Amino acid sequence: MKLHRFEIDGAARIGVEHGDSLIDVTDAAKGCMLSVIENAATAIPAIEQALQGDLPAYAIENVRLLAPIERPGKVLCSGINYHGHFAENPKAVMPSSPFFFAKLPNTIAGPGDPIFKPALTEQLDYEVEFAVVIGKRIRNADAAQALDAVFGYTILHDVSARDVQFTDYQITLGKNFDNFAPIGPCIVTANEIPDTSDVRLKTTVNGVVLQDGSTQDWVFPLGELIGALSQVMTLNPGDIVTTGTPAGVGYFQKPQVFLQDGDVVSLEVEGIGVLTNRVTLENAHVSAA
Ligand code: MG
Repeated sequence: MKLHRFEIDGAARIGVEHGDSLIDVTDAAKGCMLSVIENAATAIPAIEQALQGDLPAYAIENVRLLAPIERPGKVLCSGINYHGHFAENPKAVMPSSPFFFAKLPNTIAGPGDPIFKPALTEQLDYEVEFAVVIGKRIRNADAAQALDAVFGYTILHDVSARDVQFTDYQITLGKNFDNFAPIGPCIVTANEIPDTSDVRLKTTVNGVVLQDGSTQDWVFPLGELIGALSQVMTLNPGDIVTTGTPAGVGYFQKPQVFLQDGDVVSLEVEGIGVLTNRVTLENAHVSAA
């Protein structure tokens, strides 16, 4: 099941993708996406039951899609987790265990929302990431328990300001400008991707393919990655854990490719969909008063 959040008359609704349409299951979902995730054992059957009846449907192209989780509790992103991305970075050190950095709440954006190009960077870069939506509370989980806690999958765009990232002693700032984590277009429930070990993922900028990889290239498989994180912190329903990016980021292209005003970036992950955002200069962004 592909679960979307979308907007009708200014209100957020929940829809299930069916061909080119979204079937509105907001009533059956009893609230927000987070409650569907937290109560999946009853919420998913209730949605399936409702789908048997007569529900309103909207053409996807006619609605505004929203970030599929309104407010993820935590967003933890895996650093180097593809052999190809490690190989393209001459300064990278192969991690002996998974490592992570955080994306903060200000970074979350939805499909179609702008990626703001901040004045502070000349090196705005893209990273497609296969992202996990946690469905159960876990702590100190082994790999099997970690996989069992997965609710579903989405795409996260780990937008990065390389000049800020690489001149900082740690990478928080370069990864956390506003709107630096578009997510979407939907959450695919875990049963639809029973095997995550060979999922294709791709980035195109203005139609040019710049990343084209597979999760086959992962350094740490999914269960190990999430399990390692759970040794440090409790993971809760609605948290997002990403799995790194494949080779082909702009910084390591020859010549380098950096995102510019007006560029359209589309991230495609097999079995999930396409997440598209356009780059907009930050001066078009509303400043805080
Ligand atoms: Mg990344």
